[in-house]
Amino acid sequence: MNEINRLREEHPKMIYIAFPGDEKSTGGCVAAGRGFFHINSHGGAEPCPFSPYSDINVKNTSLLEAIKSPLFTALRNSDILLDDHEGGCVLYEKRELVEALINN
Ligand code: SF4
Repeated sequence: MNEINRLREEHPKMIYIAFPGDEKSTGGCVAAGRGFFHINSHGGAEPCPFSPYSDINVKNTSLLEAIKSPLFTALRNSDILLDDHEGGCVLYEKRELVEALINN
């Protein structure tokens, strides 16, 4: 975390999100648009590189629409992202729940 702290001090107008790392200080998982989301090499918008599920593609939609995808919205509206964070990856640990959301 020393490097990210240095960057934050030197470039205060930039937003840096570290994962793993920022989950505990922000009260939970920062994926699915809570802090960021990930775009894979095919354009699929995924909650995080560690949660490679997608229900929307940025080739066909705007970033603003992508962040409102049914999967991201369901994750943000659930308690999953805010589960107590002990250092592991909550979306990996609860991947069956994420898969259930995307298959709804
Ligand atoms: S999905 Fe996992 S690695 Fe990604 S931000 Fe959430 S807890 Fe961290």
